[in-house]
Amino acid sequence: MTQSLYDGKNVGLSYDRLDEARSRYFGGSTNCWGGHCRPLDSLDFKKREGVPNSGWPFGKEELDRYYERSHSLLKLGPFEYDESKWSQKMAKDDLFLFPLDRECLHNVISQINPQAKFGDIYRAQLGEAANIKVMLFSNATEIQTNDTATTVTGVRVRTLNGKSFTISARIVVLAAGGIENARLLLLSNQTQRMGLGNGRDLVGRYFMDHPRIRSDIVRINAQQRHRRLYDQTMVLSRAGYFSGDARISAHVAPTSECQRKLSIPNSKTYFVARYTSGMSKAYLGLRAISRQVKGRARFGYSFGDMARAIIRAVPAIVGNVPEAIIGVLDTHLNPRFVKRAFELWTIIEPIPNYDSRVTLSSARDRLGLNKVEVDWQVTERDKLHFISLRKLLTQEMTRQGVLQFVGEPVDPAEIWPKNIVGCWHHMGTTRMDSDPAKGVVDANCRVHGISNLFVAGSSVFPTAGSDMPTITIVALALRLAGELAANLGRAGSHGCGDVWRLGGRKR
Ligand SMILES: Cc1cc2nc3c(=O)[nH]c(=O)nc-3n(C[C@H](O)[C@H](O)[C@H](O)COP(=O)(O)OP(=O)(O)OC[C@H]3O[C@@H](n4cnc5c(N)ncnc54)[C@H](O)[C@@H]3O)c2cc1C
Repeated sequence: MTQSLYDGKNVGLSYDRLDEARSRYFGGSTNCWGGHCRPLDSLDFKKREGVPNSGWPFGKEELDRYYERSHSLLKLGPFEYDESKWSQKMAKDDLFLFPLDRECLHNVISQINPQAKFGDIYRAQLGEAANIKVMLFSNATEIQTNDTATTVTGVRVRTLNGKSFTISARIVVLAAGGIENARLLLLSNQTQRMGLGNGRDLVGRYFMDHPRIRSDIVRINAQQRHRRLYDQTMVLSRAGYFSGDARISAHVAPTSECQRKLSIPNSKTYFVARYTSGMSKAYLGLRAISRQVKGRARFGYSFGDMARAIIRAVPAIVGNVPEAIIGVLDTHLNPRFVKRAFELWTIIEPIPNYDSRVTLSSARDRLGLNKVEVDWQVTERDKLHFISLRKLLTQEMTRQGVLQFVGEPVDPAEIWPKNIVGCWHHMGTTRMDSDPAKGVVDANCRVHGISNLFVAGSSVFPTAGSDMPTITIVALALRLAGELAANLGRAGSHGCGDVWRLGGRKR
């Protein structure tokens, strides 16, 4: 089945199976995403001393208007992320952001898409559009070019039931996700042996995800005033905070001034409630079953895998029915009077790292194409960043009366890298830089050296900030669409020649 075409091998830091870290069907990974959205901060676009290889070719102001437009596409609330404006609204509902002094730490607001899958939202509209043809079950297998690989001529397509054909195109926009964008360029090696756009061996390099690190167990002071905003177990449930059509989540982050002063990158910290019976074997058994059932819907787990997992979980549940019931009640009823402990989760901005990369392996998928090998690596500097950030966070949040530790604080050096998990944000593999020696695409998302090949998606991010990527992907896509439409209009029906220049259109 199609989802299996995403299979691959992780050879670096421990990571989710590659066929479970993204969805290979209509709507892409919005079929399984969490919906958190927040534009990157201005500082995230800048070249920073403490973050080697950082910096975008333009500033945040270039994307601002597209970020604003992306809100309606992403079904978010008003385009508002100001901490003080939101705190006024929240106070009316008896909810409060943490009283942080904003010198080194501040609250940041994210909005959450109501979990709607893009395939569901846009299916009808795409079906009705006269100028769009959606082809399902059609796998791009190669991007074809002229003899000098300076112009794309079309895309080779194959289906799992053996059909194949070529789509001729004046312009090709590669939008297959942060790992597959690189894979398709590497697979397209008929003219350029190293893969398209890979003359400098940059395609697939600088692979990033946001390292997410579980650290201390804490209690939040005045939990009832804050929990619905910061605790991810509530934020993503109906008990989270809604204001009109906006659904809100809050995090704690170092201010830009503090990042500059301490030479640290961006980060976000949030809380994850520990439920009374959450660690009981019976409840974990139920969770394992639920994961399998959801995984079958999201990623197409095989029926056999699902059945085996259920058979494995059943003895723990049957042997401890009361524990299972308490676990379900505690988690789902979530009684207000229970004073809970919380685990701190911190997402840090990764350092773009040349050695962290996606390559082709010798194993083949069902179409006979090389599968990917992902070597996710973090650096010693990332570790030092995490140690500094955690010290700042825990000292300041304790001093400012936000939380207290339960038990001994953890040693951050001890938990690195074993407590790191990814966030399913695949970024950096076709990074953007105006200099072809440093990036795969230029500031207009065009592959250097190829007149009509563009890339959409987080693979173009040269630096990742600590926010979730999709709103920035959508903003970049709107910007690229505007450029292409304007250039196509100018080029008329006579081919595109070399009209794809940054700034080719008057802004
Ligand atoms: C569990 C999970 C939770 C997440 N939570 C969040 C979150 O809270 N906030 C956030 O911002 N982001 C989140 N993400 C990441 C988010 O889903 C991605 O950033 C986003 O979906 C990327 O969009 P994309 O269109 O670039 O790629 P994708 O969504 O990966 O879409 C790529 C599309 O290309 C198709 N495709 C791939 N290869 C081929 C091929 N060879 N031929 C034809 N078609 C092909 C796929 O079928 C798919 O439809 C999450 C991801 C996961 C997995």
